[in-house]
Amino acid sequence: MYFVFFLQVIIEGYKSYKEQVKTEDFSPKVNCVVGANGSGKSNFFHAIRFVISDLFHNLRSEERQALLHEGAGHQVLSAFVEIVFDNSDNRMPVDKEEVRLRRTIGLKKDEYFLDGKHITKTEVQNLLESAGFSRSNPYYVVQQGKIASLTLMKDSERLDLLKEIGGTRVYEERRRESLKIMQETGNKRKQIIQVVQYLDERLNELEQEKEELKKYQQLDKQRKSLEYTIYDKELHDARQKLNEVEEARNKVSENSTKMYESVLEAHEKSKELEKLSKDLTKEIQIFSKEKEAAEKQRTEAIRKRAKLDLDYKDLQEKMSTNIKAKDDAQKQLMLLEREVQETKNALNDIKPLYEKQVKEEEDIKRGIMDREKRLSILYQKQGRATQFASKAARDKWLQKEIDEYERVLSSNLMQVIFLVKILSCFLILQAFDL
Ligand code: ATP
Ligand code: MG
Repeated sequence: MYFVFFLQVIIEGYKSYKEQVKTEDFSPKVNCVVGANGSGKSNFFHAIRFVISDLFHNLRSEERQALLHEGAGHQVLSAFVEIVFDNSDNRMPVDKEEVRLRRTIGLKKDEYFLDGKHITKTEVQNLLESAGFSRSNPYYVVQQGKIASLTLMKDSERLDLLKEIGGTRVYEERRRESLKIMQETGNKRKQIIQVVQYLDERLNELEQEKEELKKYQQLDKQRKSLEYTIYDKELHDARQKLNEVEEARNKVSENSTKMYESVLEAHEKSKELEKLSKDLTKEIQIFSKEKEAAEKQRTEAIRKRAKLDLDYKDLQEKMSTNIKAKDDAQKQLMLLEREVQETKNALNDIKPLYEKQVKEEEDIKRGIMDREKRLSILYQKQGRATQFASKAARDKWLQKEIDEYERVLSSNLMQVIFLVKILSCFLILQAFDL
């Protein structure tokens, strides 16, 4: 393996290299990496290409994940490979003896650092290109198996390969490209000649047009001078007309001022009339309200009058009825007076009899009381048993006596009732003052 100008390679977390590994003391001629199967020789080679090869520049997230070390213990989250270049011959356009290029990857990052400073992928590509790691010549790295395939190749294929390695293929490609460009340029030249011919034709046309334009300009001048004369005359006429119109306008303006004043006066008058009309409207409203009230009063009065008429008729009817009743009453009164007089006369006639009867009653009452007294005295003296032959005879006699007294008493009572009736009639007549 030729590491033409590598000074040191540092790997950490990359593939099978979990811990940091530093390799140095490279020979400027041939370096050989030896180790047991699976010890990591190919991974080391891969790590160098990971930094310098164009093929690995664009990696997807899963591809980066595959490059991170996988194994027991803590998960490795990022890995880096750093190559220290010998720049003593200023291969790279950096003013330093040693140049450190590091690529760091993680699940979400993929960054390049040049001497500890962050640089872009394009900058890395340019830097490597200038150092001889050309994209057009990919044989600066010879992979495992390539040598074997070289030995088994046909002569023509091997020639192609040698051309490729020698870089001649690039020049052939460039020749092809140049021929293509030449052809395109020839085509363009033909097109340009055609355009020049067209431009010549156009130039002739323009010359003709230029002559025509000159003629046109001369005629145009004449036209303009004629137009000027016409316009000047028109302007003169127009000014004259304008003066006339101005005078007419002034007159109209005076008239309009007068009319405006009269309009103002009319406006004032109209305002006054409006005010007057408003006042009159108000008065009309007041009168109409008063009229309404008077109407109401009149209706009320008519209603009252109708009622009074009816009442008057009723009263007249009542009066006539009352007069008739009064006449009847007077007649009855006369009859009654006559009856009273007759009754008075009868009373006067009866009065001495009544007094006599009262006196007789009193006498009879006294007689009865005396007799009763005497009878009781006699009963006490004789004893009732001896007076009568039997008890039945005594009861018979007593019954007879009782009947006699009762008859006298009822007769007296009848007389008393009669006298009381007459007396009450007399008292009524006295109360009516008749
Ligand atoms: P050979 O002589 O057979 O060519 P080698 O020395 O080239 O072997 P490599 O191919 O470099 O060996 O290493 C292979 C080893 O690296 C395998 O054991 C594989 O498990 C391990 N390996 C590859 N990728 C990773 C990774 N991402 N993480 C951890 N180990 C890995
Ligand atoms: Mg291997």
